[in-house]
Amino acid sequence: MSGFTWERGPFTRCAKCGQTTMGILSAGGQLLTKRCTNCRATVQIPLPELDKKAIYLDQFMFSMIYNVKNEGNLPKGHEAFAKEVYTLLRRCVLLQQVFLPHSNIHHDETTVFHSPIDLRGLYQFFGGDVSLMDSRDVELLQDIRFAKAYFDAAEPAVSLDIDEIADSRRNEWLPDMHVGVRADYSQFADHIRAVRGEVHDAMKHLADTWIERKATFADVLESEFSAIGPTKKQAFAKWFEEVSNPDPNDPLALLESSGRQIYREYRELCHVLEDRGVDENQQPIEIRKFWHWERHREIPHQRISSYLFAAVARRVVMGEKKIVDRGLLNDVRTISTYAPYVNALFIDKRCAALLKEEPLATELDYKARIFSLADTDEFLDYLSEIERQTSDEVREYAAMIYGTD
Ligand SMILES: [Zn+2]
Repeated sequence: MSGFTWERGPFTRCAKCGQTTMGILSAGGQLLTKRCTNCRATVQIPLPELDKKAIYLDQFMFSMIYNVKNEGNLPKGHEAFAKEVYTLLRRCVLLQQVFLPHSNIHHDETTVFHSPIDLRGLYQFFGGDVSLMDSRDVELLQDIRFAKAYFDAAEPAVSLDIDEIADSRRNEWLPDMHVGVRADYSQFADHIRAVRGEVHDAMKHLADTWIERKATFADVLESEFSAIGPTKKQAFAKWFEEVSNPDPNDPLALLESSGRQIYREYRELCHVLEDRGVDENQQPIEIRKFWHWERHREIPHQRISSYLFAAVARRVVMGEKKIVDRGLLNDVRTISTYAPYVNALFIDKRCAALLKEEPLATELDYKARIFSLADTDEFLDYLSEIERQTSDEVREYAAMIYGTD
């Protein structure tokens, strides 16, 4: 064969003209398209069905992968792991067994990373390009399921299937030639840094209160739970105040208003009530009653985050104030929203350790296996097992399309 062809190898025998000129034209989605360079005969082959596992890596892991790829600095003592996990993850992604989802939490953090464009490209190219529903939307989704149960006097049921929150292309074969869109979000970096600073100050203040009161795990858990209703009511009142009296010097503040989330929930709840024929004037009263429903504490994201905060408080009271840092809230949010849906979470060592403490270990229930730099060997074993379980058929197609061996 000489010269340029649209088709690429491996070339097989064409059933129409008999030459060994049947190559790959394209692959992706559910189809492999082959075409003969000689007679242009085209065949479309349906690719085997997939059931990819969701492995959520925190920002730290993506940065590490980025550094392996770009020969940057690797975390001390974990250099060998970094290289090994890079190879194994890439292989599992190309074998179509795994995707490494990205979320709004990554995107916020990526923006403050030194090369945000490249790191974003990495989620898309390396991770299989599946995004998860925004963490706030996941919370809202669960809240609304509980609201429906409350208004219908039914038992709350929240589906924790990954397809509830992952985009629908998760089980597609990756395109054989990946063209990523490079978007630059760095203009948001200052704002994100400022917000994180503010939230961090509020957390430090909370930590001082815990120390002062010598709060116990049970105290903090109970106060987290019983604060759900009042906090929502207060947030809604604050939002209402802000939109009723906007600051004329800062009209954009409305958009950034911390109340946006509570307003969205309120609106959704109004729709739910409307569907149930509840009169408009009666809706705010019903919503307030729902916000004070004691079963709020069973909503997965509320339950997990409350337990984590109680565990953090216990450490703080024991003198470990350092645990409250800039990354803590994002870690808690990542775990409390995504742990029930994904197959595995690779997170910060500190939060992984908290999840292993009692009563969290026995009382919290979520799908994800938890990994961190404290158990790197277990994570490599986990990935190797997934690699081994790949069917021969999928392996053959992956070799043909992506050049895995
Ligand atoms: Zn042919």
